[in-house]
Amino acid sequence: MEYRRCGNSGLKLPAVSLGMWHNFGAIDSLENARNILRLAFDSGITHFDLANNYGPPAGSAEETFGQIYKDDFKRYRDELVISSKAGWGMWEGPYGDWGSKKYLVASLDQSLKRMGLDYVDIFYHHRPDPETPMEETMGTLDLMVRQGKALYVGISSYSASETEQAVAILKRLGTPCLIHQPKYSMFDRWVEGGLLDVLGNEGVGCIPFSPLAQGLLSNKYLKGIPEGSRAAAHRGNGAIEENAITEANIAKVAKLNEVAIKRGQNLAQMALSWILKDQRVTSVLIGVSKPEQVTDSLKCLANTSFTDEELTLINNILD
Ligand code: NDP
Repeated sequence: MEYRRCGNSGLKLPAVSLGMWHNFGAIDSLENARNILRLAFDSGITHFDLANNYGPPAGSAEETFGQIYKDDFKRYRDELVISSKAGWGMWEGPYGDWGSKKYLVASLDQSLKRMGLDYVDIFYHHRPDPETPMEETMGTLDLMVRQGKALYVGISSYSASETEQAVAILKRLGTPCLIHQPKYSMFDRWVEGGLLDVLGNEGVGCIPFSPLAQGLLSNKYLKGIPEGSRAAAHRGNGAIEENAITEANIAKVAKLNEVAIKRGQNLAQMALSWILKDQRVTSVLIGVSKPEQVTDSLKCLANTSFTDEELTLINNILD
């Protein structure tokens, strides 16, 4: 495993981290979850990413993690970086959503209980809140660090200008913003329009999510929608739907697949390598439904550099 420094901080993250958004809920197999986490850790993936609402039902991915942590990982606590988040709807009423101090403090306490942890390594505000003053949300992140419930803090899905504001407030408070978690893949390149520059200039790390566009950037949908795939599962909650597997998308995927093969990779591996080619990216955050995907995806690390010709070819396909 390659470990990259997270922005200007003292923390290093594995170049590939594992997220538990899907496939770790109460409806999923605990044994499969355990096998995935064990294999990931044994492969050098020291960072597991969670959120209050991962499941389904919401909260159950943290419970799954808590169970496996208690059985298998407790003695390795100091070898692990565990993150959680709050910012999306979690419970009924006005105090279970967005970015108020009332919501975030309660949510982190609940997450710690579900996971059986004294502290998380990274706590994120999960999405910007247009109504709560940013001083309140960032002040709460600072409070969590001072209370010892989080070691570092981050933000997710904040725009470039919102990120500049958040970073400035946190700096003033004395708790630097460690990391930003944006959606980023060959199919969604919004971070290239300013956010990556802000992160690079401010010394904030970056951990892109959904780097395979939820599996679309692999060869699995080339011949239809296989049973058991995320698009076939109709899970809702932001999961990829069948209507995203369009002819236009698949035509691009087929061409990208050819570029990948010429590089000696499969498409999933190339899509991850393509994210990691930028040194401002600390880690790429993968999701998997089975252990074999961990092994397969980790091969992306064998070749994270691209020739100008390859990059032009890819850009032309994506245009
Ligand atoms: P990906 O884009 O990597 O999609 C994961 C899916 O891709 C898997 O479930 C699997 O699909 C397929 N896949 C994975 N590896 C391979 C492979 N080697 N070959 C073929 N197919 C493969 O990421 P996610 O969308 O799962 O997001 C990753 C993590 O990012 C989440 O778990 C979460 O931690 C974080 N996240 C954060 C968000 C935020 O708002 N901050 C939002 C969303 C995610 P299949 O199930 O069909 O086998």
